[in-house]
Amino acid sequence: MIVAIDGPAGAGKSTISRMVAGRLGWTYLDTGAIYRTVTLLALEQGIGPADGEELGRLARHLEIGFKPGPGGSPRVFAGCREVTEEIRRQEVTANVSEVSAHREVREALLDKQRACTDVGNVIIDGRDIGTVVCPRAEVKIFLTASVPERGRRRRLELEEKGTLVTQERMEAEIAARDAYDSGREVAPLKQAEDAVLVDTTEMSIEEVVDRVAQIIEKKLVP
Ligand code: C5P
Repeated sequence: MIVAIDGPAGAGKSTISRMVAGRLGWTYLDTGAIYRTVTLLALEQGIGPADGEELGRLARHLEIGFKPGPGGSPRVFAGCREVTEEIRRQEVTANVSEVSAHREVREALLDKQRACTDVGNVIIDGRDIGTVVCPRAEVKIFLTASVPERGRRRRLELEEKGTLVTQERMEAEIAARDAYDSGREVAPLKQAEDAVLVDTTEMSIEEVVDRVAQIIEKKLVP
């Protein structure tokens, strides 16, 4: 079974997907990590975020790999090089939406993402999973939360890693990424018609995990 979880930045997709996959003993695939890896390599190779052609070439040649990591967080590899930490760098986050908007990049990564779903039961999170990558997914969930709440979560996440940022800056970054991801021409962020909307603004992590697991279990045992 394929469970597609889409939604905007900071809605909790990766945390929830990882925890639900852990509870069910399923595989978790983080597609944002793939776009982040292309962005990291582009920055390192001096390819600008506007250069769709070169970025597409980079994406086509990317050998992305995942291995189970601590606490169910996947470790991410480009070839045999581990990039798990580096793809979370601020510079990558600041450029990833522009890189991801190119048709050449998205087309190059489509089959790679689909190949990763051939692993039995899988939870896959991103922006266009229910609409483009896996339109036949048995379960589709659109996870969202208000901008102030998503900004707060991202700020706390960074603080835990020792980086202090203002709430205002986090909200501005999140809103900018939302606008880019929803406004792009190719595979924009949007709720699939048959997706269940889960607004997590007022929910605890445990409540969201329970709700998502419940939606999946209902499909497993109708
Ligand atoms: O999920 P995460 O925040 O790590 O994703 C980083 C960025 O990658 C998103 O803001 C979006 O621009 C891009 N992305 C995408 N399509 C996906 C997953 C991520 O365009 N399926």
